[in-house]
Amino acid sequence: MEYAERIKTLPPYLFAELDKKKQQLKQRGVDLIDLSIGDPDLETPQPIVEKMCEELQNPINHHYPDYEGLFELRETVALWYERRFGVSLDPSREVMALIGSKEGIAHFPLAFVNPGDYVLVPDPGYPVYRASTILAEGIPYFMPLKEENAFLPALRDIPSEIAKRAKLMFLNYPNNPTGATASRKFFREVVVFAKDYNLIVAHDLAYSELYFDDPPPSFLALEGAKEIGIEFHSLSKTFRMTGWRIGFAVGNGDLIQGLGKVKTNVDSGVFCAIQRTALWALQGNVDEEVRKWQMILKRRRDLMVNGLKELGFNPFVPQATFYLWLKVPEGYTSVSFANKLLEVGIVVTPGSGFGQNGEGYIRIALTVSEDRLKEALNRLKNLRF
Ligand SMILES: *Cc1c(COP(=O)(O)O)cnc(C)c1O
Repeated sequence: MEYAERIKTLPPYLFAELDKKKQQLKQRGVDLIDLSIGDPDLETPQPIVEKMCEELQNPINHHYPDYEGLFELRETVALWYERRFGVSLDPSREVMALIGSKEGIAHFPLAFVNPGDYVLVPDPGYPVYRASTILAEGIPYFMPLKEENAFLPALRDIPSEIAKRAKLMFLNYPNNPTGATASRKFFREVVVFAKDYNLIVAHDLAYSELYFDDPPPSFLALEGAKEIGIEFHSLSKTFRMTGWRIGFAVGNGDLIQGLGKVKTNVDSGVFCAIQRTALWALQGNVDEEVRKWQMILKRRRDLMVNGLKELGFNPFVPQATFYLWLKVPEGYTSVSFANKLLEVGIVVTPGSGFGQNGEGYIRIALTVSEDRLKEALNRLKNLRF
Protein backbone atom coordinates (compact mmCIF):
# COMPACT_ATOMS: atom_id res chain seq x y z
CA MET A 1 0.00 0.00 0.00
CA GLU A 2 1.36 3.40 -0.98
CA TYR A 3 1.50 6.03 1.80
CA ALA A 4 0.55 9.64 1.07
CA GLU A 5 3.52 11.97 0.53
CA ARG A 6 2.83 13.85 3.77
CA ILE A 7 3.19 10.63 5.73
CA LYS A 8 6.36 9.66 3.89
CA THR A 9 7.97 12.97 4.83
CA LEU A 10 7.32 12.46 8.54
CA PRO A 11 10.66 11.80 10.24
CA PRO A 12 11.47 8.18 11.10
CA TYR A 13 11.21 6.98 14.65
CA LEU A 14 14.74 7.51 15.96
CA PHE A 15 14.55 5.41 19.08
CA ALA A 16 13.58 2.13 17.44
CA GLU A 17 17.03 0.60 17.97
CA LEU A 18 17.30 1.78 21.55
CA ASP A 19 13.82 0.45 22.31
CA LYS A 20 14.82 -2.94 20.91
CA LYS A 21 17.90 -3.05 23.14
CA LYS A 22 15.79 -2.02 26.12
CA GLN A 23 13.36 -4.88 25.43
CA GLN A 24 16.22 -7.39 25.08
CA LEU A 25 17.73 -6.32 28.39
CA LYS A 26 14.34 -6.56 30.09
CA GLN A 27 13.86 -10.09 28.77
CA ARG A 28 17.26 -11.04 30.15
CA GLY A 29 15.97 -9.89 33.52
CA VAL A 30 18.19 -6.80 33.83
CA ASP A 31 16.91 -4.38 36.49
CA LEU A 32 16.41 -1.32 34.28
CA ILE A 33 16.19 2.21 35.69
CA ASP A 34 14.12 3.96 33.07
CA LEU A 35 14.90 7.68 32.96
CA SER A 36 13.41 8.13 29.51
CA ILE A 37 9.73 8.47 30.36
CA GLY A 38 7.98 11.85 30.18
CA ASP A 39 5.09 10.60 32.28
CA PRO A 40 4.80 11.07 36.07
CA ASP A 41 5.57 7.86 37.98
CA LEU A 42 3.12 8.69 40.79
CA GLU A 43 -0.61 8.07 40.43
CA THR A 44 -3.24 10.76 39.87
CA PRO A 45 -4.01 12.40 43.27
CA GLN A 46 -6.72 10.41 45.08
CA PRO A 47 -9.18 13.36 45.48
CA ILE A 48 -9.26 13.70 41.68
CA VAL A 49 -9.99 9.99 41.26
CA GLU A 50 -12.80 10.20 43.83
CA LYS A 51 -14.31 13.25 42.13
CA MET A 52 -14.23 11.35 38.84
CA CYS A 53 -16.07 8.37 40.38
CA GLU A 54 -18.80 10.73 41.47
CA GLU A 55 -19.06 12.41 38.05
CA LEU A 56 -19.15 9.03 36.37
CA GLN A 57 -22.36 8.21 38.25
CA ASN A 58 -24.10 11.31 36.95
CA PRO A 59 -26.06 10.62 33.73
CA ILE A 60 -25.72 14.25 32.55
CA ASN A 61 -22.13 13.31 31.78
CA HIS A 62 -22.99 10.36 29.55
CA HIS A 63 -23.80 12.19 26.29
CA TYR A 64 -21.83 13.77 23.48
CA PRO A 65 -19.95 16.78 24.82
CA ASP A 66 -19.83 20.15 23.02
CA TYR A 67 -16.74 20.21 20.85
CA GLU A 68 -15.47 23.49 22.41
CA GLY A 69 -15.80 22.26 26.01
CA LEU A 70 -18.34 22.85 28.79
CA PHE A 71 -18.95 26.53 29.46
CA GLU A 72 -18.23 25.92 33.18
CA LEU A 73 -14.82 24.53 32.27
CA ARG A 74 -14.03 27.48 30.01
CA GLU A 75 -15.13 29.88 32.73
CA THR A 76 -12.96 28.11 35.28
CA VAL A 77 -9.97 28.26 32.93
CA ALA A 78 -10.54 32.02 32.47
CA LEU A 79 -10.63 32.52 36.26
CA TRP A 80 -7.54 30.37 36.72
CA TYR A 81 -5.69 32.38 34.06
CA GLU A 82 -6.61 35.64 35.78
CA ARG A 83 -5.50 34.32 39.18
CA ARG A 84 -2.34 32.55 38.04
CA PHE A 85 -1.05 34.74 35.18
CA GLY A 86 -2.95 38.04 35.39
CA VAL A 87 -4.43 37.43 31.92
CA SER A 88 -8.11 38.16 31.18
CA LEU A 89 -9.88 35.80 28.81
CA ASP A 90 -13.39 35.72 27.39
CA PRO A 91 -14.59 32.16 28.09
CA SER A 92 -17.01 32.23 25.16
CA ARG A 93 -14.39 32.96 22.46
CA GLU A 94 -10.92 32.68 23.92
CA VAL A 95 -10.89 29.27 25.62
CA MET A 96 -11.28 25.78 24.15
CA ALA A 97 -11.07 22.32 25.71
CA LEU A 98 -8.64 19.84 24.11
CA ILE A 99 -8.27 16.06 24.21
CA GLY A 100 -4.83 16.64 25.72
CA SER A 101 -2.69 19.53 24.50
CA LYS A 102 -0.99 17.26 21.96
CA GLU A 103 -4.29 17.05 20.10
CA GLY A 104 -4.57 20.85 19.90
CA ILE A 105 -0.94 21.31 18.86
CA ALA A 106 -1.32 18.64 16.17
CA HIS A 107 -4.48 20.22 14.71
CA PHE A 108 -3.53 23.89 14.99
CA PRO A 109 -1.39 24.21 11.82
CA LEU A 110 -4.22 22.68 9.77
CA ALA A 111 -6.23 25.81 10.54
CA PHE A 112 -3.58 28.41 9.69
CA VAL A 113 -0.71 26.98 7.63
CA ASN A 114 -0.97 26.75 3.85
CA PRO A 115 1.16 24.33 1.83
CA GLY A 116 4.64 25.86 1.46
CA ASP A 117 4.35 28.25 4.43
CA TYR A 118 7.28 28.19 6.83
CA VAL A 119 6.75 27.30 10.46
CA LEU A 120 9.45 28.23 12.99
CA VAL A 121 10.10 25.19 15.17
CA PRO A 122 12.44 24.94 18.18
CA ASP A 123 15.28 22.43 17.86
CA PRO A 124 15.61 20.47 20.11
CA GLY A 125 11.87 20.34 20.69
CA TYR A 126 8.75 18.32 21.36
CA PRO A 127 8.40 16.30 18.11
CA VAL A 128 4.73 17.26 17.55
CA TYR A 129 5.57 20.81 16.35
CA ARG A 130 7.52 19.44 13.41
CA ALA A 131 5.10 16.60 12.67
CA SER A 132 2.00 18.83 12.73
CA THR A 133 3.75 21.28 10.39
CA ILE A 134 4.50 18.48 7.94
CA LEU A 135 0.95 17.12 8.14
CA ALA A 136 -0.30 20.60 7.18
CA GLU A 137 2.24 20.57 4.31
CA GLY A 138 4.12 23.50 5.82
CA ILE A 139 7.92 23.65 5.91
CA PRO A 140 9.60 23.48 9.32
CA TYR A 141 12.43 25.96 9.84
CA PHE A 142 14.42 24.91 12.86
CA MET A 143 15.43 27.51 15.42
CA PRO A 144 18.48 26.17 17.32
CA LEU A 145 18.19 26.25 21.12
CA LYS A 146 21.78 26.62 22.30
CA GLU A 147 23.22 26.46 25.76
CA GLU A 148 25.06 29.79 25.27
CA ASN A 149 21.63 31.42 24.68
CA ALA A 150 20.11 29.70 27.73
CA PHE A 151 18.20 27.46 25.28
CA LEU A 152 16.18 30.36 23.86
CA PRO A 153 16.04 30.82 20.06
CA ALA A 154 18.21 33.70 18.78
CA LEU A 155 15.52 35.63 16.89
CA ARG A 156 18.08 37.85 15.14
CA ASP A 157 19.60 34.75 13.51
CA ILE A 158 16.37 33.84 11.69
CA PRO A 159 16.87 34.98 8.06
CA SER A 160 14.35 37.68 7.21
CA GLU A 161 13.43 35.91 3.92
CA ILE A 162 12.34 32.92 6.02
CA ALA A 163 10.56 35.02 8.63
CA LYS A 164 8.64 36.84 5.90
CA ARG A 165 7.38 33.56 4.49
CA ALA A 166 6.61 32.09 7.90
CA LYS A 167 3.08 31.90 9.27
CA LEU A 168 3.65 30.53 12.72
CA MET A 169 6.25 30.15 15.47
CA PHE A 170 6.12 27.41 18.09
CA LEU A 171 7.62 28.04 21.52
CA ASN A 172 7.65 25.95 24.70
CA TYR A 173 8.75 27.34 28.09
CA PRO A 174 9.28 25.74 30.57
CA ASN A 175 10.95 23.65 27.90
CA ASN A 176 10.95 19.98 27.04
CA PRO A 177 13.65 18.62 26.65
CA THR A 178 16.11 21.25 28.02
CA GLY A 179 14.28 22.30 31.22
CA ALA A 180 14.91 25.97 30.32
CA THR A 181 12.48 28.74 31.26
CA ALA A 182 11.85 32.03 29.45
CA SER A 183 11.73 35.53 30.93
CA ARG A 184 9.17 38.23 30.22
CA LYS A 185 11.97 40.11 28.47
CA PHE A 186 12.38 37.31 25.94
CA PHE A 187 8.61 37.11 25.40
CA ARG A 188 8.55 40.88 24.79
CA GLU A 189 11.14 40.41 22.02
CA VAL A 190 8.99 37.64 20.56
CA VAL A 191 5.93 39.92 20.43
CA VAL A 192 7.92 42.59 18.56
CA PHE A 193 9.41 40.01 16.16
CA ALA A 194 6.02 38.38 15.51
CA LYS A 195 4.36 41.73 14.79
CA ASP A 196 7.20 42.76 12.45
CA TYR A 197 6.77 39.60 10.40
CA ASN A 198 3.04 39.06 10.87
CA LEU A 199 3.51 35.73 12.66
CA ILE A 200 1.21 33.70 14.89
CA VAL A 201 2.86 32.56 18.12
CA ALA A 202 1.80 29.19 19.54
CA HIS A 203 3.20 28.76 23.04
CA ASP A 204 3.12 25.36 24.73
CA LEU A 205 2.81 25.88 28.49
CA ALA A 206 2.33 22.24 29.53
CA TYR A 207 4.90 22.56 32.34
CA SER A 208 3.75 25.90 33.79
CA GLU A 209 3.02 24.44 37.24
CA LEU A 210 6.04 22.16 37.63
CA TYR A 211 8.32 24.94 38.84
CA PHE A 212 10.69 25.08 41.82
CA ASP A 213 10.99 28.76 42.70
CA ASP A 214 9.40 31.57 40.65
CA PRO A 215 6.20 30.68 38.76
CA PRO A 216 6.87 30.83 35.00
CA PRO A 217 4.94 33.55 33.10
CA SER A 218 2.32 33.19 30.39
CA PHE A 219 3.28 34.54 26.97
CA LEU A 220 -0.20 36.09 26.82
CA ALA A 221 0.59 38.35 29.80
CA LEU A 222 2.81 40.49 27.56
CA GLU A 223 1.30 43.62 26.05
CA GLY A 224 0.02 42.88 22.55
CA ALA A 225 0.58 39.12 22.83
CA LYS A 226 -3.10 38.25 22.71
CA GLU A 227 -3.40 39.87 19.27
CA ILE A 228 -1.12 37.17 17.84
CA GLY A 229 -0.86 34.39 20.41
CA ILE A 230 -2.39 31.10 21.42
CA GLU A 231 -1.29 29.07 24.42
CA PHE A 232 -1.61 25.31 24.87
CA HIS A 233 -2.13 23.84 28.32
CA SER A 234 -2.44 20.44 29.79
CA LEU A 235 -3.63 18.86 33.02
CA SER A 236 -1.31 15.91 32.28
CA LYS A 237 1.82 17.08 34.09
CA THR A 238 0.37 19.40 36.76
CA PHE A 239 -2.19 16.92 38.10
CA ARG A 240 -0.49 13.71 36.89
CA MET A 241 -3.42 13.03 34.55
CA THR A 242 -1.51 11.93 31.44
CA GLY A 243 -3.87 9.05 30.73
CA TRP A 244 -7.03 11.10 31.12
CA ARG A 245 -6.55 13.20 27.97
CA ILE A 246 -7.57 16.71 28.81
CA GLY A 247 -5.96 20.07 28.09
CA PHE A 248 -7.05 23.44 26.76
CA ALA A 249 -6.08 26.24 24.40
CA VAL A 250 -6.47 29.93 25.24
CA GLY A 251 -5.65 33.20 23.52
CA ASN A 252 -6.69 35.21 20.48
CA GLY A 253 -10.34 34.54 19.65
CA ASP A 254 -9.78 34.13 15.90
CA LEU A 255 -6.98 31.62 16.52
CA ILE A 256 -9.14 29.66 18.95
CA GLN A 257 -12.12 29.69 16.58
CA GLY A 258 -9.90 28.52 13.66
CA LEU A 259 -8.71 25.59 15.72
CA GLY A 260 -12.33 24.95 16.66
CA LYS A 261 -13.34 24.77 13.02
CA VAL A 262 -10.86 21.92 12.49
CA LYS A 263 -11.95 20.18 15.67
CA THR A 264 -15.71 20.27 14.94
CA ASN A 265 -14.88 18.23 11.85
CA VAL A 266 -12.50 15.81 13.54
CA ASP A 267 -13.53 15.01 17.11
CA SER A 268 -16.49 15.33 19.43
CA GLY A 269 -14.88 16.81 22.49
CA VAL A 270 -13.77 15.55 25.89
CA PHE A 271 -15.87 13.16 28.05
CA CYS A 272 -17.94 15.49 30.28
CA ALA A 273 -17.11 13.56 33.47
CA ILE A 274 -13.43 14.30 32.80
CA GLN A 275 -14.20 17.95 32.05
CA ARG A 276 -16.12 18.37 35.32
CA THR A 277 -13.35 16.66 37.27
CA ALA A 278 -10.72 18.81 35.57
CA LEU A 279 -12.51 22.07 36.32
CA TRP A 280 -12.87 21.02 39.95
CA ALA A 281 -9.09 20.48 40.08
CA LEU A 282 -8.46 23.87 38.44
CA GLN A 283 -10.65 25.55 41.08
CA GLY A 284 -7.86 24.93 43.59
CA ASN A 285 -9.26 21.83 45.29
CA VAL A 286 -5.98 19.91 44.94
CA ASP A 287 -3.47 22.76 45.21
CA GLU A 288 -1.88 21.07 48.22
CA GLU A 289 -1.23 17.94 46.11
CA VAL A 290 0.35 20.08 43.38
CA ARG A 291 2.64 21.74 45.95
CA LYS A 292 3.73 18.32 47.23
CA TRP A 293 4.41 17.17 43.67
CA GLN A 294 6.56 20.28 43.07
CA MET A 295 8.56 19.52 46.22
CA ILE A 296 9.08 15.89 45.26
CA LEU A 297 10.43 16.97 41.87
CA LYS A 298 12.64 19.64 43.39
CA ARG A 299 14.21 17.08 45.74
CA ARG A 300 14.79 14.69 42.84
CA ARG A 301 16.33 17.50 40.78
CA ASP A 302 18.69 18.51 43.58
CA LEU A 303 19.69 14.92 44.27
CA MET A 304 20.47 14.23 40.63
CA VAL A 305 22.14 17.58 39.86
CA ASN A 306 24.42 17.28 42.90
CA GLY A 307 25.20 13.62 42.21
CA LEU A 308 26.04 14.31 38.58
CA LYS A 309 28.27 17.25 39.56
CA GLU A 310 30.19 15.01 41.95
CA LEU A 311 30.80 12.67 39.02
CA GLY A 312 32.24 15.53 36.95
CA PHE A 313 29.19 16.30 34.82
CA ASN A 314 27.85 19.79 34.39
CA PRO A 315 24.08 19.53 33.97
CA PHE A 316 21.93 22.53 33.08
CA VAL A 317 19.99 23.19 36.31
CA PRO A 318 16.29 23.43 35.41
CA GLN A 319 13.99 25.87 37.27
CA ALA A 320 10.94 23.89 36.08
CA THR A 321 9.88 20.60 34.35
CA PHE A 322 11.01 17.10 35.33
CA TYR A 323 13.90 16.92 32.88
CA LEU A 324 17.67 17.22 33.13
CA TRP A 325 19.50 18.05 29.91
CA LEU A 326 23.03 16.77 30.07
CA LYS A 327 26.02 17.20 27.76
CA VAL A 328 27.62 13.84 26.92
CA PRO A 329 31.34 13.29 27.67
CA GLU A 330 33.99 13.92 25.00
CA GLY A 331 34.10 11.27 22.31
CA TYR A 332 30.44 10.26 22.56
CA THR A 333 27.34 11.02 20.53
CA SER A 334 23.89 11.19 22.08
CA VAL A 335 23.14 7.65 20.96
CA SER A 336 26.53 6.11 21.83
CA PHE A 337 26.36 7.59 25.33
CA ALA A 338 22.77 6.37 25.80
CA ASN A 339 24.01 2.91 24.75
CA LYS A 340 26.89 3.17 27.22
CA LEU A 341 24.42 3.87 30.04
CA LEU A 342 22.35 0.88 28.96
CA GLU A 343 25.36 -1.30 29.86
CA VAL A 344 24.56 -0.54 33.51
CA GLY A 345 20.81 -0.74 33.03
CA ILE A 346 20.11 3.00 32.83
CA VAL A 347 17.74 4.13 30.08
CA VAL A 348 17.87 7.77 28.91
CA THR A 349 16.67 9.58 25.79
CA PRO A 350 19.33 10.60 23.25
CA GLY A 351 19.06 14.36 22.66
CA SER A 352 19.33 13.87 18.90
CA GLY A 353 15.80 12.44 18.94
CA PHE A 354 14.52 15.97 19.63
CA GLY A 355 16.31 17.47 16.61
CA GLN A 356 19.79 18.04 15.18
CA ASN A 357 20.69 20.55 17.86
CA GLY A 358 19.98 17.99 20.54
CA GLU A 359 23.03 16.04 19.35
CA GLY A 360 25.65 15.89 22.09
CA TYR A 361 23.06 15.77 24.89
CA ILE A 362 20.89 13.24 26.67
CA ARG A 363 17.60 13.87 28.45
CA ILE A 364 17.12 12.42 31.91
CA ALA A 365 13.52 12.31 33.14
CA LEU A 366 13.11 12.59 36.92
CA THR A 367 10.11 10.28 36.82
CA VAL A 368 11.47 7.64 39.23
CA SER A 369 11.82 7.66 43.04
CA GLU A 370 14.77 9.17 44.91
CA ASP A 371 15.93 5.64 45.79
CA ARG A 372 16.10 4.70 42.13
CA LEU A 373 17.92 7.95 41.30
CA LYS A 374 20.47 7.12 44.02
CA GLU A 375 20.86 3.65 42.54
CA ALA A 376 21.38 5.21 39.09
CA LEU A 377 24.11 7.50 40.49
CA ASN A 378 25.80 4.47 42.11
CA ARG A 379 25.82 2.62 38.83
CA LEU A 380 27.26 5.69 37.06
CA LYS A 381 30.11 5.78 39.59
CA ASN A 382 31.25 2.38 38.36
CA LEU A 383 31.25 3.34 34.68
CA ARG A 384 34.45 4.48 32.95
CA PHE A 385 33.93 6.99 30.17
C1 LIG B 1 3.78 16.23 27.95
C2 LIG B 1 3.79 17.37 27.01
C3 LIG B 1 2.60 17.89 26.53
C4 LIG B 1 1.28 17.38 27.09
O1 LIG B 1 0.63 16.55 26.31
P1 LIG B 1 -0.86 16.13 26.63
O2 LIG B 1 -1.35 15.77 25.28
O3 LIG B 1 -1.60 17.30 27.21
O4 LIG B 1 -0.79 14.97 27.56
C5 LIG B 1 2.62 18.97 25.66
N1 LIG B 1 3.79 19.53 25.31
C6 LIG B 1 4.95 19.09 25.79
C7 LIG B 1 6.20 19.78 25.43
C8 LIG B 1 4.99 17.98 26.63
O5 LIG B 1 6.16 17.52 27.07
